[in-house]
Amino acid sequence: MQKSGNSGIVYLIGAGPGDPGLITVRGLECLRRADVVVYDYLANPGFLAEAPKAEHIYVGKSRGRHHTPQEQINVLLAEKARLGKVVARLKGGDPFLFGRGGEEARFLRQEGIHFEVVPGVTAGFAAAAYAGIPLTHRDFTATLSLVSGHEDPSRKMSRIDWSKLASGGDTLVFYMGMTNLPVIAERLMAHGRPPGTPVAIIRWATTPRQETLTARLDDVVERARNAQIGPPAIIVIGEVVTLREELRWFDNRPLFGRRILVTRAADQAGDFCDLLRQEGADPILCPLIEIVPPQSWEELDEALERLPETDILVLTSANAVRIFLARLRETGRDLRALHGTTIVAVGPKTAAALEALGLSPDLIPENHHAEGVVNLLRKHGIAGRRILYPRAELARDLIPREMEAAGAEVISPIAYRTVLPEGTDPLLNEKLEGGLDAVTFTSPSTVENFMHLTGPQARKRLSGAAVFSIGPQTTAAAMRLGLTVAAEAESSTIEAIVIAMTDYFLEANSAPRKNSNPNAGPWTPQG
Ligand code: SAH
Repeated sequence: MQKSGNSGIVYLIGAGPGDPGLITVRGLECLRRADVVVYDYLANPGFLAEAPKAEHIYVGKSRGRHHTPQEQINVLLAEKARLGKVVARLKGGDPFLFGRGGEEARFLRQEGIHFEVVPGVTAGFAAAAYAGIPLTHRDFTATLSLVSGHEDPSRKMSRIDWSKLASGGDTLVFYMGMTNLPVIAERLMAHGRPPGTPVAIIRWATTPRQETLTARLDDVVERARNAQIGPPAIIVIGEVVTLREELRWFDNRPLFGRRILVTRAADQAGDFCDLLRQEGADPILCPLIEIVPPQSWEELDEALERLPETDILVLTSANAVRIFLARLRETGRDLRALHGTTIVAVGPKTAAALEALGLSPDLIPENHHAEGVVNLLRKHGIAGRRILYPRAELARDLIPREMEAAGAEVISPIAYRTVLPEGTDPLLNEKLEGGLDAVTFTSPSTVENFMHLTGPQARKRLSGAAVFSIGPQTTAAAMRLGLTVAAEAESSTIEAIVIAMTDYFLEANSAPRKNSNPNAGPWTPQG
């Protein structure tokens, strides 16, 4: 029987191998309920965002320092639970597989602390799956051993029965085996595994930095050394490894492992980063612009006063939609104020932003640029009409100019400005120094701010990273400032820029760059 004098509890949660999608639903539920999250270096720190109000305690390795001693972690878990807290102990993979979860659970039981165990996707299973290696297959093997390859020189690994491991046709999966790889390979061969047995080493499995090396038992040590492949890695040994060639699916996508700089505003970068991740890329977030209100609302407020006499409202970005409608509300109005006004949206994204707020645009041009709006309205007939065009501070004057020339009265108040976010300079430096495969510019102002920060060194600082642009205005800005654009999106959307990159890298057929920081883990900080 478990004593429980208070409501505190420890959830020993398997956080999975790295890909944040590989935690269980139950694990996520428990995590969201937590008052305290205790995590280590194998658990994706992105999970902390699921418990933003909880106390976060890191007990893993940090540069040069060792793990928090296990006894200390045990005591910490018990102490927090005794205070009545819900403690989420996030562990990489599965908590009861080579993760000392068993020790933590025993200690908690001895202390009379209530606990629950949430299994996780263990690194061995995940690494094999993401490398395209079925661990069992009818044609090759029906059995599987999970083995700790952790070096314990005093024991000479005596707990492992090498002759048994070597003799069967088992698939062998070694955890923590990299330091000991030479011993593992040597003992297996000495006990009868054929030297030609296929081996795969999978490092940082399931993350955009997954690396996989395949070899034979008799050359794996040398090849791993040459490839400088170190821990944390899973070693899979057995005939099933040959299936990778046929079943590889994760690390052969065109953007896999590519480090791609995302420069758009932080609150708009999420969708772009998700899209890049879906294609296997490693999005590196460094917003070079931030959307802020105008210096004064006076102009826009005046325009709002005149809404009843306004015939046409032109919106040329999702930002304009968001800010215009927020201001409408702030000034005591609601959607009814737009009654009778024809609404023009420049393209599908702007239209979607309107729809999300319960408004359907009346007109969308075929060409999703200012030029398209102008052509459309000319056809529509605007002589004598009053047009409201809430715009960005630095927007081109094409729309007001052309509309006035066509006989309309145009009011174009500044609705928002784009500024350089604070603290961007050191952040951009760090990202550039980490090594990039690509830089994406999603508006002329992202290009301008990039050039402002990098100065005449811009080209050199890119050190070969390919530049991608979302559309003609952005490309023009980049070229004006001396950058070479590798490819431009066909339509001005993030989906199209991803397609442009995919095509480019398929053609380039080059290997992605590695992070040049030797201490870097696989986790890209979430922005
Ligand atoms: N409880 C964990 C294992 C912890 S032991 C689990 O079930 O997965 C630590 C070892 O796990 C590492 O030395 C490495 O062999 C393996 N490992 C953990 N995460 C990994 C990853 N993303 N890629 C490759 N190996 C990983």
